[in-house]
Amino acid sequence: MPSHHRRFTKNKKMNNYTDSIPGFKELITGTVLLPGDTGYNESRAIWNGMFDKKPALIARCLNAVDVSRAVVFAREHQLQIAVKGGGHNSAGNAVNDGGMMIDLSLMQNVEVDPASLTAKVEGGCLLGAVDEATQAHGLAVSAGIVSHTGVGGLTLGGGFGWISRKYGLTIDNLLSVDMVTADGSLVHASAKENQDLFWAVRGGGGNFGIVTTFEFQAADIGTELYTGPVVKRFEDAGEYMRFHQEYVRDMPEEMTIWMVLRHAPPLPFIPEEYHGKLVVLVPFVWLGNPDEGEKLIQPIRDFGETIGDGSGVKPWTAWQSAFDGLVMHGARNYWKSHHLKALSDECIDVITSFAANLPHEESEVFIPHMEGAPSRIDPLSTAFPHRNTPFVLNLHTRWLQVADDERCMRWAREFHEATRPFSQGVYVNFLSEEGGDRVREAYTEEVWDRLVEVKKRWDPENIFRMNQNIPPD
Ligand SMILES: Cc1cc2nc3c(=O)[nH]c(=O)nc-3n(C[C@H](O)[C@H](O)[C@H](O)COP(=O)(O)OP(=O)(O)OC[C@H]3O[C@@H](n4cnc5c(N)ncnc54)[C@H](O)[C@@H]3O)c2cc1C
Repeated sequence: MPSHHRRFTKNKKMNNYTDSIPGFKELITGTVLLPGDTGYNESRAIWNGMFDKKPALIARCLNAVDVSRAVVFAREHQLQIAVKGGGHNSAGNAVNDGGMMIDLSLMQNVEVDPASLTAKVEGGCLLGAVDEATQAHGLAVSAGIVSHTGVGGLTLGGGFGWISRKYGLTIDNLLSVDMVTADGSLVHASAKENQDLFWAVRGGGGNFGIVTTFEFQAADIGTELYTGPVVKRFEDAGEYMRFHQEYVRDMPEEMTIWMVLRHAPPLPFIPEEYHGKLVVLVPFVWLGNPDEGEKLIQPIRDFGETIGDGSGVKPWTAWQSAFDGLVMHGARNYWKSHHLKALSDECIDVITSFAANLPHEESEVFIPHMEGAPSRIDPLSTAFPHRNTPFVLNLHTRWLQVADDERCMRWAREFHEATRPFSQGVYVNFLSEEGGDRVREAYTEEVWDRLVEVKKRWDPENIFRMNQNIPPD
């Protein structure tokens, strides 16, 4: 047991946690927040406005030792632990009612080593901070597409974004982690050390401990890239999707082209008469010479009618926050997702008919194209086995009023059910609260069994269970 625990366990006899709080406050360098304290409400707030949970106490940690002491305190007082990285997960697992929330959001340091193209990122960082620090050297870590998403949850579930077709998933670029495990120990895991743990944290979520530092391989992508959305008419969505699904699969891995069905935001390159109307956005990123990228995008512009074109060479950090405004904190969200076997004609028909009835102007249907470098990696080498997926179907169901909950959630459930025949598994980070059987669908049986073995070894009492849980038995 690490030495800092010994001091703490002297207090073990105090069963009532409230009596122990003054001692706990002295033990950690961060802050302990109780209901009513300044900052308590800000800290417990998460991205999905559907959740309003109130932890008994919040440990806002500043370093790994704080995290360890918080874990030990929670165990001793039988407080359920919730861990907040970026607080972005739509399932709302970063916060609990009546337990201890371990808030990592003050742990935001990023250290880049341009010589080895690596970055050490603290567990509470947001993606924007990683982009900012790595871009100072023209580098980037393959990760997600919204700058206010947390690195913690995103990485532990897998992580993908605009450059993963070329450079792999976020976990494929993970070199090591520093973690606090269920007994409060500080543990390093990599391909050489604690290999079972390192395997499990690459896809198995927060089930095995709290990651205080991630070490990533970065890629040299430069600071400006040819990116953009081309905008098509929604009336042509079915026909366009039939073309799109073939065209994007033929693209070199330097080109990533996705598709979004939504109401047009009031962007300058979209004619005013389309603002607020259903459209098809075709955002893309090209890792190469802009002239070559332009040629590859031209057939998309030429297919049917193009009603708007926002393409151009942009700073990478600007592109990485281009979607932020469409998914701000606080709205009500019920996200559902599938990996798709293919965008077959029948699947396209179902998608376009549900998309024609999006339940709110903030809701959208998001269809990333996945295959590339991630698909070449052995599906058993990490705990992210569903790697041979051409497309993901994400139902980003968002709305603002409680009164719309039932209507919007029903739309998502019915859409999700109707597309189930075309699905093959799911990405664990896109699950809502959908029950244990559904969590298993994020894994294959072989990977699940192995995750359970690792869980038994590192967290046999299921201390870390506010997550898409992998129970030890
Ligand atoms: C708007 C939006 C955009 C998104 N875009 C992408 C995308 O482009 N690509 C992609 O792959 N995913 C994307 N996601 C999904 C995203 O990966 C998950 O929501 C992820 O869980 C967010 O991580 P977080 O740290 O912000 O979340 P949190 O809610 O803080 O945490 C999620 C889970 O991870 C655990 N956790 C968080 N940090 C740690 C840590 N350091 N150690 C141990 N456990 C931890 C938490 O306990 C919780 O169970 C997006 C989500 C949203 C809402």
